[in-house]
Amino acid sequence: MLQFPTEILIAGQWRRGAGEPVDTIDPANGRVLATVHSATPGEVAEAAEAAAQAVADPAWRDLPAHERARLLHRIGELTEQAADELSALQTADTGKTLTETRALALSAAGTFRYMAAVLETAEDAVTPSRGPYVTVSTHEPIGVVGAINPWNSPVASDAQKIAPALAAGNAVILKPAAWTPLVSLALGRLISRALDEFRLPAALLSVLPGSGRVVGDAIVRHPLVGRIGFTGGTSTGRSIAGIAARKLIPASLELGGKSPTIVRADADIEQALSGVLFGIFSSSGQSCIAGSRLFVAREIYDSFLGELVERVRELRVGPGTDPATQVGPLVHHRHRDSVAAYVDLARAEGARVLCGGSAPEGEPYEDGAYYLPTVLDGLPNTSRTCQEEIFGPVLVALPYDDEDDLVRQANDSVYGLACGIWTRDLRAAGALARRIEAGTVWINTYKQFSASTPFSGWKDSGLGTEKGRDAIRAYQRQKSLYWGVSDHPLPWAN
Ligand code: NAD
Repeated sequence: MLQFPTEILIAGQWRRGAGEPVDTIDPANGRVLATVHSATPGEVAEAAEAAAQAVADPAWRDLPAHERARLLHRIGELTEQAADELSALQTADTGKTLTETRALALSAAGTFRYMAAVLETAEDAVTPSRGPYVTVSTHEPIGVVGAINPWNSPVASDAQKIAPALAAGNAVILKPAAWTPLVSLALGRLISRALDEFRLPAALLSVLPGSGRVVGDAIVRHPLVGRIGFTGGTSTGRSIAGIAARKLIPASLELGGKSPTIVRADADIEQALSGVLFGIFSSSGQSCIAGSRLFVAREIYDSFLGELVERVRELRVGPGTDPATQVGPLVHHRHRDSVAAYVDLARAEGARVLCGGSAPEGEPYEDGAYYLPTVLDGLPNTSRTCQEEIFGPVLVALPYDDEDDLVRQANDSVYGLACGIWTRDLRAAGALARRIEAGTVWINTYKQFSASTPFSGWKDSGLGTEKGRDAIRAYQRQKSLYWGVSDHPLPWAN
């Protein structure tokens, strides 16, 4: 029987938060899973002060990198062992299918292992000496870092920040989204257990659920918090960046997207069809990298759209716990209503609704936050429907005439997160990929992720990079050492 955590992790102690109670619901049926009391700004301060002490504790401060790597390996192992539980919790909390949430839990385990490997092989530099001294460039932890995440893929987003931050020698204060605290608390338990096994300070991790306005804001503003790793919406990211700028602390921002997915006339149509479907409708479209704008070469537009719409109608909508489900409910009824309002806006803008466009009807869907996979067309790329992030199972299709027309439309967006290109001509794909303004371009695949490959958003999709070998460095500060090797006093004083 699945246990839903309700206590939160404050400065190494598990206890009920002193803030307001928040019901977390199962979006498949609207039932309350657990009531988690939020943290308060006072508890954020308590966590930050204890975290600062933990970072300075010689047991952590002086732990060699290869020993920190052992801790990360252990967390990876515990995460993998708990993959079924983490997956079930996340499916209950977010509505995603068990297949997806299991993959996310295993990806989190992989992230801890990858960061352990990077940490053990990271090298400082002896720089070319330009005088009677030896110069060494080293990297040190920042201290206490804040990690603020959205609700769509909590366990994977949490690992993406906690793993490099701990690898770098910091303490972490994690704030999950108010709607989905459960899996982050469960991951927190595993990390607490590993810290305990290694006799390391428990306050190296706090997990503080609550609203962004209260708890998130208190984390960002706390004077002891020296770096923010944020994933979420662009307007929130912009306001956090403003506070970080005033504090003169670094912030990495992984933000929204409205990614183009492009089907050239020479594409393998079967591959393109399944790739486009997966790119937008997996996770019910609640993915920053969802391929939500579909550009199809005009000469194949009608036939491709016709076949796509047939297949969209056949997608199986249902609870994430049903192995047959392809499209689960949205994370929350309020979010479903926001997606529905966007489709109403599209209609008002003159869109044709080719399929979907409403919540599914019938008993199994009655109390859930479901919305049918929807395909729209007939709108210019300048419409709000094509420009704004809907973050749901809504695809808008547009034809293009030639590559210049395509590139102009695809890049005409404030976002620059990702892009998909479907073509048999790899040389053309490479050339097109270079013209697209996006941090990630997939060619004949989509939504594939690897801990070893840097991920960053361009334009309003973000600032800074997660994943890859440099992820740990992003949670460190550089220090240069000059070691004098001359036997003589410095000449000026004489
Ligand atoms: P959101 O910006 O509303 O919230 C994200 C997190 O920030 C939550 O934990 C929230 O409580 C917190 N927050 C809100 N206001 C805050 C404030 N003033 N100070 C500090 N913290 C605050 O986003 P959301 O609705 O939870 O998530 C959806 C968004 O996340 C989408 O725009 C999506 O594209 C984006 N996202 C981006 C990526 C990426 O890697 N680029 C990945 C996943 C999701």
